[in-house]
Amino acid sequence: MYTFAVRDEGSSVYNALTKLIEADANWKRLKKGNPKANLIFLERNNQPFWKFGHQPGLKQLTNYYRGSEVICRKVKLVSVLAHHFALKNQDIFQWLPESFIIRPIQNLEKYAAMKSKKPRALEKVTDERGEFMKAFERHRNSGRGEAWIAKSSTGAKGEGIIISRSPDDLISAIENQPEPHIVQKYIEKPLLLSGQRKFDVRCWVVLDHEYNIHLMKEGVLRTSSDAYDEDNLTRITSHLTNHCIQEEQSANFGKYEEGNEMFFAEFDGFLKKKYGTSMVDKILPQIRMIVKECLLAIKEDINTDHLSYQSFQVFGFDFMIDAAFKVWLIEINGAPACAKRLLPQLTSGIFNMVIKQVFPSDIACDEQAGDCTEECAFETL
Ligand code: ADP
Repeated sequence: MYTFAVRDEGSSVYNALTKLIEADANWKRLKKGNPKANLIFLERNNQPFWKFGHQPGLKQLTNYYRGSEVICRKVKLVSVLAHHFALKNQDIFQWLPESFIIRPIQNLEKYAAMKSKKPRALEKVTDERGEFMKAFERHRNSGRGEAWIAKSSTGAKGEGIIISRSPDDLISAIENQPEPHIVQKYIEKPLLLSGQRKFDVRCWVVLDHEYNIHLMKEGVLRTSSDAYDEDNLTRITSHLTNHCIQEEQSANFGKYEEGNEMFFAEFDGFLKKKYGTSMVDKILPQIRMIVKECLLAIKEDINTDHLSYQSFQVFGFDFMIDAAFKVWLIEINGAPACAKRLLPQLTSGIFNMVIKQVFPSDIACDEQAGDCTEECAFETL
């Protein structure tokens, strides 16, 4: 008999997974705060890792890798990938749109005040506004577009995003904010769906307890409801594909796809019919490579090989595809929600590929506890 505790009661993924585990006679649920459970579902913002792995003979598994947030914050992702590619002597902006870290003046002043006390901490404080201005000119002079997008480091749901062709407007908008931002090259020529609409692509990835990377074969396109308008960068519903923005601000929400979600099979059909190509040929190889590269970039720092507890984690990788079928990484979410239709595949996958591997069952798999072949919903990279 194994024990589990659920500290995150607000996550649809862990609520669904909890139901699967509760239906399995091998498991018993303990109180929320019990640090001695075998399996512990931590909250996104409260992860007391130091409490685990101290009980002699108690095998423990948590649902986060300690330190993984470095790829889930926009500013840190740029720093991590810059370091990773510098070591390989490669260009960082192969599939990450060219991005620069910009800190508001008040943020820089705060660090300057700390200078005498913590000079080493300051070594990590980057502000790349000079580099951004040079890149802006370079793109403009070579006819590669003048639009850039500014996003705050921990921003979500499209809040506070600015798209502009004026570097001064972008920088002055950042100056008034408390947080560091990235200014990123805006993908001005995205691949468009019927109705000339933009989309982004969400893929779910399970990083298991042995650091194997499992990409869910199904994913979803989050579509915009209004036609893309390259000339009007302020029409937010044609430029930002966040579900909440589309739902709250577009009168056309749900007009083309239910809930503005298109699943891979339908997108594949669109690619075949309109362009004579497919996900398998053009898109998936790029997605696989990017996912792998990002997770391997932090493997040395976050793997649990030397620890006395184990981890797994679900990531949501967001991509855009441009008109030349090139895939670009937009962001990585370390605690993603899951499209309702895909939730059973994701949770059975975690149960079978991770939890049952770490804690083998002596009692036969219950019907309700998920089909034991669900791992075929994933491919291992
Ligand atoms: P948030 O975390 O606030 O959702 P994202 O980085 O995911 O921020 O960006 C929100 C949306 O903005 C994306 O879903 C996409 O539609 C659009 N977007 C983000 N970055 C770019 C980019 N570099 N080029 C074009 N569109 C982008």
